[in-house]
Amino acid sequence: MMESIKPFLGVIIVFGIPGITAAALSWVFARRRARNPLAWALVSSILPVFVFVLYFKKPLAEVPGHFRHCLACGEFSPWKYGGCIYCKPANQESERTP
Ligand SMILES: [Zn+2]
Repeated sequence: MMESIKPFLGVIIVFGIPGITAAALSWVFARRRARNPLAWALVSSILPVFVFVLYFKKPLAEVPGHFRHCLACGEFSPWKYGGCIYCKPANQESERTP
């Protein structure tokens, strides 16, 4: 039994491991961007380049803990930033002297 799958082991290792890794990464990234994790994981397991496509995609909705939606300009900013990176920087200190 083992002898029959031996020739395929290399194929499984070369294509299987990157496929599973890509699918797992896509699942995480898609969840953080309010996108469909299953669809992205399936596509990425076949074409791992989609992990990078997804990484640079904007979220579809605000995801608490990951992406913040700015009501002023409609853009998304990293949650950690604490503000909008496009229109009003976080912890903006007014250094204007009266
Ligand atoms: Zn903004």
